[in-house]
Amino acid sequence: MENRKLVFANWKMNLDIKSSLRLINDIQKANLFFNNLDIVIAPPGVYLYEISKFLEGSHIQLSSQNVFYENNGPYTGEISPQMLKDVGCKWVMIGHSERRQHILETNEMINKKILLSCNNDLNIICCVGESYEERRQGKTFNKIGDQLKRALRDVSANFLNQIVIGYEPVWVIGSGKAAEISDINEVHDFIFDQLKLMYPDSKILPRIVYGGSVNNANISSIMTLNNVDGVLVGNASLDCDKFCDIVLKVGNSND
Ligand code: PEP
Repeated sequence: MENRKLVFANWKMNLDIKSSLRLINDIQKANLFFNNLDIVIAPPGVYLYEISKFLEGSHIQLSSQNVFYENNGPYTGEISPQMLKDVGCKWVMIGHSERRQHILETNEMINKKILLSCNNDLNIICCVGESYEERRQGKTFNKIGDQLKRALRDVSANFLNQIVIGYEPVWVIGSGKAAEISDINEVHDFIFDQLKLMYPDSKILPRIVYGGSVNNANISSIMTLNNVDGVLVGNASLDCDKFCDIVLKVGNSND
């Protein structure tokens, strides 16, 4: 997995089945393929099965936006890693700040979800990020270091090639303006250093991607940064032209 880049589309709770299939179809038609690039799309959960049928044979991979931390049982409304695999998912997104905020997802829940997803051979994108208030108070590194340690508690180094860390400064998400390049650079370096400290003997470390108002105007400068292995895209992933332009620019960026 080392040096592979990633473009991850988070559609959130948007689109209906018709427009989802149309968007997937348009992205497919753009025929974007790069040897060293993973393209992953996370549509709303209820559309996963239909989209996975549509994507059969495609290099575009499918992700869920969430997963539960038990295999089965009395957990009304929840979906297990195995169930996600049954409908064609290769990826799960865990710990998005919107879930931390609105569903009150805790670091402990996130850790349990990561452990079970690892054991089920799913690839994981785990989101971390500070709030505006935390940044203003100089608590960014404390916050992200803590989220990383708790999310990856008891995760063995054998699973690190399945894991991607998504750095998403919370206030920047959906704002239309990405974080400052120097801030992205500093936090990605910090995350890389933390991962090295947590797994000193591991040759492979999780990839680190940036998310938060990524668009076709800022993507090229973001991809010049050292410890940026790709991007997590929300709003811009709902527009075929904008999304494909981002994929092209990431695919053509130098390592
Ligand atoms: C996100 O919520 O994961 C995200 C990256 O959103 P946006 O690109 O819209 O800021």
